[in-house]
Amino acid sequence: MTETRSRISRCVIRGSINCDEYFHVDHIVRPGETSSSSDYERRVGGKGANQAVAIARAGGAVSIYGNLGQDGLWIKDAMQSWGIEVQGLAVSEGSTGRALIQVDRHGENSIILSPGTNYSELHEQEFKKRGENWFPDCSHLLVQNEIRIQSSQYAIKNAQKASVFVNPSPLPSSEEIKVFPWDRVDWVIVNADEAKELAAAFGISVDFSMSEVVQLLALNPKFQHTSIVCTLGADGVLAVLQINSDKRPCTLIQVPAGKILNTVINTTGAGDTFTGYFVKGIMEYGPDAKLGKEIGGEEVRKVLQTCVQAAAMCVEKAGTIDSIPTLEDVRERLV
Ligand code: ADP
Repeated sequence: MTETRSRISRCVIRGSINCDEYFHVDHIVRPGETSSSSDYERRVGGKGANQAVAIARAGGAVSIYGNLGQDGLWIKDAMQSWGIEVQGLAVSEGSTGRALIQVDRHGENSIILSPGTNYSELHEQEFKKRGENWFPDCSHLLVQNEIRIQSSQYAIKNAQKASVFVNPSPLPSSEEIKVFPWDRVDWVIVNADEAKELAAAFGISVDFSMSEVVQLLALNPKFQHTSIVCTLGADGVLAVLQINSDKRPCTLIQVPAGKILNTVINTTGAGDTFTGYFVKGIMEYGPDAKLGKEIGGEEVRKVLQTCVQAAAMCVEKAGTIDSIPTLEDVRERLV
């Protein structure tokens, strides 16, 4: 099947959607204990869903391809109301992915994840019915690692003309990392722990500063075409750009964390906010824009400044999706 390029940037996320169930308890339940929660809430979660919301709040066009069970149809309505294109949300056999989250009186939490329908292969079966290598048309593709790794790899392989962003969280095993199709990945977005584990999987010593570890990783032949963005919590972000892959070493950019005006309440969702804003920031340069051509180091630095500000605003609020700011609010804070 011949695909026509859309004239605007559109990101497809092939990723996870969860029903996050919060149980507010006095203390995290001990072995053998039964305890009642004082409060219960049900919210949309999952990295795919969170990052889709972040792209939409940043003003980007985004479609999500994922699987829900019959019990998750309310999530589809919620995501649509947030401006996300949801035609790619399929209903599979079984229960929607779930996170059971106990939150104690100090705000500490403990989480059990059940992948549920996130592990369905329904999409790949449906895509293949349209043609051996079919994938929805998109200018940008974003995947995380809360669905089967084979599903992410199918998307990466077949979103042929798209710029590919991978946020490999939770990190795959070192065996999976070694055979991952990094040559098709334009951008990898990781936090500091993930960067160290990624480096370790390639035998790189992590007894150096984060900037040295990430630069060493970027010099590995597997990452020859992959720029690495490494978030550093309250220390902001660093990025190693493969601007001139024939003239390595690559370009290093460091940006401090965004302005915090209130107390840090909850860092959950900061990474997803950052990732969504980053993809949207790169999408702004156009559907076919490439690093080293239309996008240079200064452009990436500007994108990163917006991302760290968005992520800083996220940590000032409770919740995950509820704490992702709009671009308008981020711009106001940047002035
Ligand atoms: P993750 O949430 O995926 O573990 P990080 O902890 O690195 O990732 O946070 C992602 C981004 O969120 C950081 O790059 C930073 O911009 C922002 N951030 C996280 N914690 C803070 C903080 N305490 N103060 C300001 N910004 C923060």
